Amino acid sequence: MSMSQKERWHETLHSDFGQYFSVEKVLFNQKTEHQELVIFQNTEFGRVMALDGVVQTTERDEFIYHEMMAHVPLFAHGNAKKKVLIIGGGDGAMLREVCRHTTVEQIVMVEIDRGVVEFCKEFLPKHNREGKVYQDPRLKLVIDDGAHFVEHTKEKFDIIISDCTDPIGPGENLFKSEFYQSCANCLNPGGILVAQNGVCFLQQQEVIESNKKLKKHFRDVSFYQAAIPSYYGGIMTFAWATNNSDLRQLDLTVLKDRFKEAQFSCRYYNPAIHLNSFALPQYLLEALAL
Ligand code: SAM
Repeated sequence: MSMSQKERWHETLHSDFGQYFSVEKVLFNQKTEHQELVIFQNTEFGRVMALDGVVQTTERDEFIYHEMMAHVPLFAHGNAKKKVLIIGGGDGAMLREVCRHTTVEQIVMVEIDRGVVEFCKEFLPKHNREGKVYQDPRLKLVIDDGAHFVEHTKEKFDIIISDCTDPIGPGENLFKSEFYQSCANCLNPGGILVAQNGVCFLQQQEVIESNKKLKKHFRDVSFYQAAIPSYYGGIMTFAWATNNSDLRQLDLTVLKDRFKEAQFSCRYYNPAIHLNSFALPQYLLEALAL
């Protein structure tokens, strides 16, 4: 992937088509211990971060993804005291959204690449409140492979959020059946696992695979969706896995009450979008035999 300050940065997620961003300024570009990390300035999307040639997050549209990945499981779960595990999430924005829930008592964040955490504190300050999210006393930051952590931890969680890369490089481990099995083992009764699962129109096989594997370990498996412009190609799907199927079909008034009680506002998430995000296109329902 060649790139200079005047040229365009081309995403390499797909080999036969793709998107590009003009590069106003390269802010950071380095191979960390695990992956190639680049952060650059783009006129339309603000600061953009990519890992191994794949867009991870942009300042302009990150709120959609992080609000939906954090608030859907947290408001669905409902129980007051909660312990949350974030896997990946090195830019800090998932942690930022989880921290907004005062009912969350403990947060463990397991990120494989310390470099991503450190460089995003400096070059993506809006994602992590200039690094302040890492000072939250409820947080324990662990630098490890998320798959290794869930396999060996004795801790139990109410919510697990797998905010990982695509199944390329270090992210591959977070799409394996063993990982889902380990997540099921470290969830409390009524716990929920959500995981980013790509843009279903273009990465449909990944969704089909996740669906098959998750069904072996959880009684209620589905997906919910939101469109995030920089994850181009249509709606992004989020895997949903729990043993309590009621959690996916809550009453709108219940969600409204919980959202009101939380006393914070969002730019994308609201209770109606929460419920309706579980409505999936027919082609996907048929592909998943849901
Ligand atoms: N929003 C992005 C998406 O949907 O593709 C994810 C962004 S976040 C930056 C992805 C994070 O996952 C990165 O910080 C990366 O280092 C981390 N990661 C990748 N593989 C991992 C693994 N096996 N264990 C823990 N973290 C991992």
